[in-house]
Amino acid sequence: MEKSVLRFEELLFPSVADVAVLSVDVNNEAICVEARWTTPGSVCPGCGSWSSRVHSSYLRFPADVPSAGHRVVLCLKVRRFFCQDASCGRRTFVEQVPGLTRQHGRWTERLRSTLAAVGLALAGRAGARMARVFGVSVSRSTLLRLVDALPELDVPAPRVVGVDEYAIRKGHTYGTVLVDVETRRPVDLLPGREASSLAVWLAERPGIEVVCRDRAPFFADGASTGAPQAVQVADRWHLWHNLSEAAERCVADHRACLRAETPVPRRPSQPRDEPTDASGSPWSTGHRFADRTRANHATVHALVAAGSSRRVIERQLRMTSRTVKRLADAAKPEYLFQGQWQGRRSVLDEFKPYW
Ligand SMILES: [Zn+2]
Ligand SMILES: [Zn+2]
Repeated sequence: MEKSVLRFEELLFPSVADVAVLSVDVNNEAICVEARWTTPGSVCPGCGSWSSRVHSSYLRFPADVPSAGHRVVLCLKVRRFFCQDASCGRRTFVEQVPGLTRQHGRWTERLRSTLAAVGLALAGRAGARMARVFGVSVSRSTLLRLVDALPELDVPAPRVVGVDEYAIRKGHTYGTVLVDVETRRPVDLLPGREASSLAVWLAERPGIEVVCRDRAPFFADGASTGAPQAVQVADRWHLWHNLSEAAERCVADHRACLRAETPVPRRPSQPRDEPTDASGSPWSTGHRFADRTRANHATVHALVAAGSSRRVIERQLRMTSRTVKRLADAAKPEYLFQGQWQGRRSVLDEFKPYW
């Protein structure tokens, strides 16, 4: 018995010192681990003084990380001690097992950190679903609170910092995101996109040598004020973005001229007299795509009837084998009018038979 209890402690609490496992009970619902802390006293969280005068004891039932498909619940006997220091505001205090429990915690520390990791990876809704899969029911808002409560990482101040705006709600609320360009990781988020808050942030980090930013005036002001020592560069993305916007505007302005300069090409093999509307066809003549398809269909069928091979037709009409096959295989040109082309006019209509 002694030996197996010893193994339980190593198995269940490898990183917690001074814990005794009194019993392990497995039923259909859960694994219950009865345990207690074996130190003779505890440190008052108020004043830090040591006390071994027990006031009372009671049971706590923090949930632990599930094991072998079962929920795991600790049945932890905790003691309340008198604080020995008369000047301390607390008369009594409850012991906490370091690495296992915390005040008012309904989970063990390792379940708490597991759930925080799930929240960090999947956020609220998906995280709650994932937790349910491994047997812990937790609400999405609780998961988000756990993520919120994680200690801030100590991120070293970047040497090259990228500044850009990000939308909390597009068109309404914007913030500022700061990225370490060398590690390519975001390092901070600022509410709003004011020059002043950016300047304050930069001034707290005098090691910044380069500020990459867009070409908006508020980031320029903020960077000049907060990091006068740093070189400011317009980042590559924004340069390309500005260039493409300018090019697009220019092309849009001159669209009419482009259309006038390039007349619609006519194919030399195109018969000049186009066939009239087939009776009952929903595609009237005058529809450019329909007319062209009818003409090509007629040309291909005429050549086939005259005994030309498909390869010769491909070369003669400068069509792909697929296009020739489609035209030759269709008994009527109307069979080729289908799908998304139907009835919709597009500047690409003329070229669609050649895809
Ligand atoms: Zn105290
Ligand atoms: Zn023009």
